[in-house]
Amino acid sequence: MPELPEVETVRRGLIPALEGARLTRVEQRRPDLRFPLPARFAERLKGARIERLDRRAKYLLGRLDTGETWVTHLGMTGRFTVGGEQPGQFHYDAGADPRHTHLVLHTGAGAVVGFNDARRFGYMDLIPTAELDTHPWFTGLGPEPLSDAFGVETLAAAFAGRRQNVKATLLDQRVVAGLGNIYVSEALHRARLHPDTPAGALKPAQVRRLVEAIKVVLAEAIAAGGSTLRDYRSAEGALGYFQHRFRVYGREEEPCLRDRCRGVVRRSVHAGRSTFFCPACQR
Ligand SMILES: [Zn+2]
Repeated sequence: MPELPEVETVRRGLIPALEGARLTRVEQRRPDLRFPLPARFAERLKGARIERLDRRAKYLLGRLDTGETWVTHLGMTGRFTVGGEQPGQFHYDAGADPRHTHLVLHTGAGAVVGFNDARRFGYMDLIPTAELDTHPWFTGLGPEPLSDAFGVETLAAAFAGRRQNVKATLLDQRVVAGLGNIYVSEALHRARLHPDTPAGALKPAQVRRLVEAIKVVLAEAIAAGGSTLRDYRSAEGALGYFQHRFRVYGREEEPCLRDRCRGVVRRSVHAGRSTFFCPACQR
């Protein structure tokens, strides 16, 4: 499942084709994805100009000049293909099976952007921009981890008195937005913190390490994603590219990569979710 860095990579890949573009033709090929698409979806998109392409947590936000925001969640297998004569330098044919292309956007500049989703766990909606913050998908979302709003004070306040373990607490989207299993495991390893530690028991210096670790692992993954943009094949392909950079995620029984640590990466499963950590250097 794409996490925040993958969604950010998709956003950056789409900007040359979509930001500032007017949608001159919209082909909607089915009434629903994971959820029904909104009424008159294609009609409401057609003619609109995408003023900005933003991201909030794992949602892509196309700010339209109609006062609505086109919201996309990629789900498990959702991905965009970009073709046509778009002005940017990126071209993804993605090897996508055209039977799973559910929406095709044509821009005035000649770009053709498809949304392809084999499993259809992705979803889209058109939401009045003024109501976005109070929409159920966005209300209560915590700060963006890479923004200045997410820092030592905010995380320490969210952790205070909390007996829930730090891993589960970081997965709580009200504490910080957009973190999933992969980058929580990576950040805890980088910060040398055991995932089972109660969040409220962390010392100020540990919270500081954790905030820095979260920002660094996300920034590194986004940088890695950026370098894959030209060679983007699929969400899975992009994730696969990031995979070799993971220090604990997916590395069960392999040696810890921390300098001078002789530990072996372990996996624990809780509520169906895997946590990867090194018991020797994460305490
Ligand atoms: Zn270790």
